[in-house]
Amino acid sequence: MPVLVMKFGGTSVATLDRIKRAAKRVGVEVAKGYDVIVIVSAMSGKTNELVGWVNETSKFYDAREYDAVVSSGENVTAGLMALTLQEMDIPARSWQGWQVPLKTNSAHSQARIEEIPTDNLNAKFGEGMRVAVVAGFQGVSPEGRITTLGRGGSDTTAVAFAAAFEAERCDIYTDVDGVYTTDPRITDKARKLDKIAFEEMLELASLGAKVLQTRSVELAMRFGVKLRVLSSFEEQSDEAGTIVCAEEDIMENRPVSGIAYSRDEAKMTLISVADRPGIAAAIFGPLAEGGINVDMIVQNISEEGRTDMTFSCPVDQVARAEKALNAAKDKGDINFHDLVADTNVAKVSAVGIGMRSQSGVAAQMFKTLSDEGINIKVIATSEIKISVLIDRKYMELAVQALHDAFELEKA
Ligand code: ASP
Ligand code: MG
Repeated sequence: MPVLVMKFGGTSVATLDRIKRAAKRVGVEVAKGYDVIVIVSAMSGKTNELVGWVNETSKFYDAREYDAVVSSGENVTAGLMALTLQEMDIPARSWQGWQVPLKTNSAHSQARIEEIPTDNLNAKFGEGMRVAVVAGFQGVSPEGRITTLGRGGSDTTAVAFAAAFEAERCDIYTDVDGVYTTDPRITDKARKLDKIAFEEMLELASLGAKVLQTRSVELAMRFGVKLRVLSSFEEQSDEAGTIVCAEEDIMENRPVSGIAYSRDEAKMTLISVADRPGIAAAIFGPLAEGGINVDMIVQNISEEGRTDMTFSCPVDQVARAEKALNAAKDKGDINFHDLVADTNVAKVSAVGIGMRSQSGVAAQMFKTLSDEGINIKVIATSEIKISVLIDRKYMELAVQALHDAFELEKA
């Protein structure tokens, strides 16, 4: 029988009533003839509570015990979901990660999936089980310890199961009804997309559209898993939600598919560093070691052998970045006159695979911002994305203006 993977996020299993509602959705797919693998998250808020308990108990905690504790939320929902399905006379049982076994490496709290053998589940499907309910977010290390896959990791569990079982599709049920052209809280013209390419979704996900864990999209792209994002709070048809798929499966080819933003950015400038071979390495090496997520980088024109170097990073990493750079200065590895942090900036990005073949997108973006009187502080581009750093107070305005300019409200 064809296999379908259905993943229910924390808000979709937040109460017993919601678990019932989710189970009904599963029942619909079982009735169509699918063998279903259901991946569940912990009830919403549960994982945060568990993380809090660990931190309260032990400041420098043993990561193996952290995983033992925080993985437990999913065990509860997996068992409750299996019971709910059984009450509906659907043959179902629950599986914890180690029982499958979902094998990972030993990187506790950030583990990577290495293998999902299919024989255990398939044997049960062969005996008439119709639904395997699997606890998301967790696996087992080569040492036999419980691991977790990083926050939001049950999306990745779902995609990995879909790849391993060659599922027809991987449906991600969440509290929004799909992926939007931009955040509907910023403009009511935001429109739900029917389809979006993996690469666009990756850009949107990492730029702050928090619908899917980034790693799950990477995995889906690598294995060609067709993803669908949809709401568990509405009656659903077969066309509901947003399909995340390969570029080839998308007919329309608009230059921009979505406008993403990231509110809490900072712009840091090293004033007057020596312009010599190795200077970028001397600056960004210590930043990398300090765990700073550097995004945009601009090296200015140099004059008399000195140059300014500007980069952006999340605003909550500014203090750490300053520490790393000042330490490098004290060691004599780099030399700068001043280090200036602008902590009032935001990043706005236009994303679209159509940019590859259509010119003028950047020009239109800059013109739109200039018409609104918004000053651009830093620009960065990739093949399918143009990002600008602007004053945070203009962020909403910029998103709205760009959404209008690229006519994203029109299908
Ligand atoms: N419960 C985990 C978390 O909150 C994993 C997930 O829901 O995806 O991060
Ligand atoms: Mg999630």
